Amino acid sequence: MRKGSIPENLNSVAERIVTACRSCDRRAEDVTLLAVSKTRPAADLREAYGAGQRHFGENYLQEALDKQAELADCAITWHFIGPLQSNKTRDVAGHFHWMHTVERLKIARRLSEQRPADMPPLNVCLQVNIDGEDSKSGVSPEDLPELAAAVAALPNLQLRGLMAIPAPRGASEDQRTPFIQLATLLDALKSQLPDQPLDTLSMGMSGDMEAAIFSGATIVRIGTDIFGRRD
Ligand SMILES: *Cc1c(COP(=O)(O)O)cnc(C)c1O
Repeated sequence: MRKGSIPENLNSVAERIVTACRSCDRRAEDVTLLAVSKTRPAADLREAYGAGQRHFGENYLQEALDKQAELADCAITWHFIGPLQSNKTRDVAGHFHWMHTVERLKIARRLSEQRPADMPPLNVCLQVNIDGEDSKSGVSPEDLPELAAAVAALPNLQLRGLMAIPAPRGASEDQRTPFIQLATLLDALKSQLPDQPLDTLSMGMSGDMEAAIFSGATIVRIGTDIFGRRD
């Protein structure tokens, strides 16, 4: 269970970001807090919004669309962070500012084709299967350069960077290892695609946020530590 109210929790997460940035000589302004609001009612998002939170991440499309309708009066930046079937791309293309979980060219092509002409390009991160687990989503590090080049060429997407959900490490292992690997992959992409604004590492959740920030995260995706434990 969360310990405080949503505004209190947002404050303490913001303080943790400041502390983590200070200890590795980064600027807190360079880390965006994405409030992961899956399974939470629109009222919780409104409370967070009232406390100044602007970026929200959702995993389930229909749930997200319902909340967007309820919160149409709020100037929210919406991020889609869940798995996406190719027959559902139109709703993401039409209703989100960011999409973090692109792992196949087919999905990227559809998102680009379906992005409404009156909206700016959809910001995209490629999800990388950084642990090489068969069960995990994401493009393999080996296939990443080819996918990135193809996505960068699509007219209505803006390739911004990489996203990963590494497996939790045991206490003896370094939780930073997979994050450093993702940062290294982004550096390689910057050399490969020098014209692209590759400025985003979407990594770090409630349990490993500090390790991600030390390794260069620019977006941390925090659910539990803001809204409490999900059922
Ligand atoms: C649920 C979720 C989060 C938030 O996880 P917490 O541990 O609750 O902070 C972050 N990223 C993704 C992709 C998620 O699905």
